[in-house]
Amino acid sequence: SFLKLKDLIPVLYQEGRYQGEPVTLGLGGFGRVELVTTLLHGKYFAKKKVSKKLIVEKRQGPHVIFEKKILQDIDCDFIVLHAAFKDTRYIYMVMEFCSGGEIWTKLKEGRFEEKIAVFVTACVVEAFAYLHKKNIMYRDLKPENLMLDSKGFVKLVDFGFAKELRRGQKTYSFCGTPEYMAPEIIQNQGHDFAADFWSLGVLVFELLVGPPFSSSEPQKIYARILDGVMKFPPYMGEGARSLISKLCPRPGQRLGNTKNGIKDVRNHWFNSINWHKLRMGQIEAPTVRLIRKGPCYINFDRFPYDKTQAEEEFSGWDRDF
Ligand code: ATP
Ligand code: MG
Repeated sequence: SFLKLKDLIPVLYQEGRYQGEPVTLGLGGFGRVELVTTLLHGKYFAKKKVSKKLIVEKRQGPHVIFEKKILQDIDCDFIVLHAAFKDTRYIYMVMEFCSGGEIWTKLKEGRFEEKIAVFVTACVVEAFAYLHKKNIMYRDLKPENLMLDSKGFVKLVDFGFAKELRRGQKTYSFCGTPEYMAPEIIQNQGHDFAADFWSLGVLVFELLVGPPFSSSEPQKIYARILDGVMKFPPYMGEGARSLISKLCPRPGQRLGNTKNGIKDVRNHWFNSINWHKLRMGQIEAPTVRLIRKGPCYINFDRFPYDKTQAEEEFSGWDRDF
């Protein structure tokens, strides 16, 4: 129903307000994400707006257009769906509102028990299976880019680093977030879909324990990743240890990247998951316990409203947006 609604969104939304002020849900490197609601259905959406002038200044035009192109033909319950439009000052992406907030915020309150970590990771596996089948690498897995919807299902957001790649090809761009980068990216050896499986292993570790490779200096993070030593604490179960060890060796032997593909990943650690029911949204998400009840923005930090408007921009880079 979101897809049908999306054509109407540009004309139908108004700001979602709290105590008279529009609600800002998040600030990113470029844009601001605001809560909006459709006049017709009273349903909430998240609207991301990015200044066109800023996009031109930072030379992000081609990235933004590509991001939109990728998102346009995605239809997967584990990926936040977007509708896009623009005016003279901004490009906008309207998304399903993930009212449960970021996994990152929940992790700040403490590491996850195994049952929750298994569920969160299973949702990511579903999203990866979908993307990889379409020959898209995600390349930016981290708790900041995982959001909970109202039922506790996990959705992937932020496709700024996603890239299409043919099977057997490699790409050489240096990108991602240091803590989650695969060794072959750091060493510029060329990377492919296997890099996503490495980051999946890092995610499992972070959900259960904390970041496996961390430092305030990126160089030290890279050195630790290349050392490849992950110390499993005693409380970590055998299933998780085994999965992480198999997701985080060199790319050729990495689980998910061998001949059985992502099937091998599903057969590890996920005994409690009925994949079919997960896909159908028919299991009760254990993550609902992490979601605070109250007004719809309660799972988000508060940000001051910004009344200023970006300058208009007419250079024409956004013809295909
Ligand atoms: P980045 O610098 O990471 O690229 P960005 O400008 O792309 O930032 P996002 O990361 O997409 O912005 O979004 C910023 C924040 O807004 C998120 O961290 C999240 O808290 C909130 N947000 C984004 N999408 C949604 C959504 N669909 N529902 C609710 N909140 C969202
Ligand atoms: Mg982001």
